[in-house]
Amino acid sequence: MDKSPASVIREEIRGIAAYHVPDSTGMVKLDAMENPYGLPSDLTQEIGRLAAQAGLNRYPDPTARALKVRLRQAMQIPDAMEILLGNGSDELIQMLALAVNKPGAVLLGVEPSFVMFRMIAAFVGLRYVGVPLTADFGLDLSALQEAIRAHRPALTFLAYPNNPTGNLFDAAAVERVAEVSPGLVVVDEAYHAFAGKSLLPQLARHPNLLVMRTLSKLGLAGLRLGLLIGRVEWLAELDKLRLPYNINVLTQTVAECVLSRGDLLEKQAAAIRSERARVLGRLAALHGIRPFPSDANFILFRVANANTVFATLKAHGILIKNVSGSHPMLAECLRVTVGAPEENERFLEALCASVPCAA
Ligand code: PMP
Repeated sequence: MDKSPASVIREEIRGIAAYHVPDSTGMVKLDAMENPYGLPSDLTQEIGRLAAQAGLNRYPDPTARALKVRLRQAMQIPDAMEILLGNGSDELIQMLALAVNKPGAVLLGVEPSFVMFRMIAAFVGLRYVGVPLTADFGLDLSALQEAIRAHRPALTFLAYPNNPTGNLFDAAAVERVAEVSPGLVVVDEAYHAFAGKSLLPQLARHPNLLVMRTLSKLGLAGLRLGLLIGRVEWLAELDKLRLPYNINVLTQTVAECVLSRGDLLEKQAAAIRSERARVLGRLAALHGIRPFPSDANFILFRVANANTVFATLKAHGILIKNVSGSHPMLAECLRVTVGAPEENERFLEALCASVPCAA
């Protein structure tokens, strides 16, 4: 009797390469769009006190009511809209995919974009259709309309700004996608803090539109907290798929505490935005490097030999992301997170050592 994984595990799962997270011990970590700034010491002390008092023997508040009130305030979520929390926005993507997974249902994405949209489609057995972006990484509206007509997607994801390209799509085109779509359209605003633009005000206009946010890029990646914002009739259905107590006690307590400090994280995001402008300027001045414009906390750039540059940076203790093999439109492309000024300097210096940098 064959009891091997090959006979038991679904073929699509065996065919997927695992989401790879490289070891970053001792490296300048500019690979995962984290906020480089820590929290002020009075706040970390308060967090310590709160953690000590948290009743870890009890299950968390299943609906995280107090945290939702804070999030609503912090993110100016319209009163008419509901909030659904996930253990990171990755979990919300998974809940959405599970919810629409009728036989033959399609998940639509654009290419290149965040890989988890496609991976989670495979996890749950949804058919994935990826529509290529235009050469300048914009939405190809006519190709999207054609794909929507042909495949009638139950679920569409558009990252706004997009990862790994860093740009914002044309908002009117995103709205058009929602108008012509028979299914749900989720605008993933993971990088909202660095873009300043949102489709949140448009929720009221489109009955099938949802907006997704996360605290990960804002500065709390370790907590794992994502949120989906939209009409109660959608979120009430999706909530049934949420595993009980998915947002743990410490995440609820700490997120609530940090958000109660007003615009602390927003100020850090502003510092990252100004660093982004500086790093972009420096990259643009380097010979042999073509950075793409960014509305996010990372910069995509093209070099002559991405694999060599990536390896040389790594040898200098700088970890960025090599996206060059992930899609033909990303050939010879690398993605760097905007870090603190001294991290960015180390990256730029090491980059100059990796390519002939006649600045
Ligand atoms: N959406 C996009 C576009 C992302 O780039 C990421 C993380 N790289 C996520 C969602 C997932 O974020 P998290 O699960 O940390 O909330």
